[in-house]
Amino acid sequence: MYLSTLEHYIGGAWVQPTSGKTQDVMNPSTNLAIGKLGLASKGDLDKALAAAQKGFETWRKVSSYERGKILKKVADLMRSRADEIAKVLTLEQGKVLAEAKVEVMGSADIIEWFAEEGRRAYGRIIPARADGVRNMVIQEPIGPVAGFSPWNFPVSQAARKIGGALAAGCSIIVKCPEETPGSPIGFVKCFHDAGVPPGVVNLVYGNPAEISEYLIPSPIIRKISFTGSVPVGKHLNSLAALHMKRATMELGGHAPVMIFDDIDADHVATVLHGMKTRNAGQVCVSPTRFFVQDKVYDKFVGKFTDLMKATKVGDGLDPTTKMGPLANPRRIAAMESFMQDAQEKGAKVATGGKRIGNQGNFFEPTVLTDVPKNARILSEEPFGPVAVMLRFKDADAALKEANSLPFGLASYAFTKDGKMAAKVADTLDAGMVSINHFGIALPETPFGGVKDSGFGHEGGIEGLNAYLATKFVSYLG
Ligand code: NAD
Repeated sequence: MYLSTLEHYIGGAWVQPTSGKTQDVMNPSTNLAIGKLGLASKGDLDKALAAAQKGFETWRKVSSYERGKILKKVADLMRSRADEIAKVLTLEQGKVLAEAKVEVMGSADIIEWFAEEGRRAYGRIIPARADGVRNMVIQEPIGPVAGFSPWNFPVSQAARKIGGALAAGCSIIVKCPEETPGSPIGFVKCFHDAGVPPGVVNLVYGNPAEISEYLIPSPIIRKISFTGSVPVGKHLNSLAALHMKRATMELGGHAPVMIFDDIDADHVATVLHGMKTRNAGQVCVSPTRFFVQDKVYDKFVGKFTDLMKATKVGDGLDPTTKMGPLANPRRIAAMESFMQDAQEKGAKVATGGKRIGNQGNFFEPTVLTDVPKNARILSEEPFGPVAVMLRFKDADAALKEANSLPFGLASYAFTKDGKMAAKVADTLDAGMVSINHFGIALPETPFGGVKDSGFGHEGGIEGLNAYLATKFVSYLG
């Protein structure tokens, strides 16, 4: 399958960009080109900015009730086109088709949730000091947004940004990932076909640095939302600060998972195996540092290693595949470099550790044990199918170790002890703590990190507030 019409969406029209520059879109299972993507010029970005300004003026006047109705139509269209969009997602990103379908259906839920929540952008009345005065707090859409979304979840990360912005009454220019452009195009088509007015959603692709450096300083743009790596997030946040733009930063993580002696090792290993192999570990909330208590260590690590070893890796379109390839050759290079460094420093490979074949970006599901503290994989985000096992006896010391990195996105624990669960929830320095199951990243719950993992949220009422500006009006009648 070849992705023949990869167009940008500007001012309600599907257009080819004018820079004359293109980039091949690759299938990570074959490393063969499956499409050619045109890249935006500054002229294209000017058009997108003008369209977003006009789109904002139109959309902010549409009632939140009507906006909600249109967004619900978007969600319905997404569900009816989920098979088609998911297939493109798997072809360009690699994840198994069932996961791609879950991503598209979950993204429809995100849009639907925002469709409803937009109607609840409540203000408040503050008791006045003088008779006849009304002190009102009003929530207004902040204005045109620039969104930058990554390649690991090409549809859902764009859905969080577009959904929040549109529900609040904002317009958006979203730069979706150049490596996986087809599925966001299928997604944005649903907005067009549902009747979202021209200029409210604009989709561009190009050189990421050129686009962010052009859009962020523009006086038209009032808010930035970025999902990606910590270094790029820091750079974009400094640009946003320089131009006094509000920002939401969803950056990387290195999620600890605390596994206590009292758990059912077979069950927890099975749950965590599913979480670890999802999207080949290229998930910012993937469990990466497994702190396993002494008495259950051998049983848990044995079972988890068996499951990792037995995972069928292959093309995401093959229905028997359980884990697809890494999304791009950079991830293979990163995995090989982590493995070399850890093994040179004394780590043991319980299973995996190597690239599979030389066609496609396949990497073995990997378990490392006896990893010394100075191994890079214990301080840098792996973003791949690698689990590091760390044995502990004392819970306080392990929690301290879990909190020792600059990251603070997701964290997990498995225990039957209610007191310990409460202690873990209170102690882990992270934006999200999930205990005894994978319970994060739902449309209605806040998703976001602390420390270097960023700030702001993309789900829950917080995800709507991110696109609202508070106005105070005092009226003497
Ligand atoms: P990268 O750091 O070059 O890019 C990360 C993302 O930022 C990409 O989507 C890229 O297009 C975008 N980007 C890069 N420079 C930009 C700029 N100047 N302006 C705007 N956008 C820019 O690395 P990569 O090889 O693409 O991804 C690898 C790393 O990125 C991973 O190790 C992981 O830490 C991180 N990542 C995180 C998430 C997440 O969900 N938080 C998603 C994808 C990648």
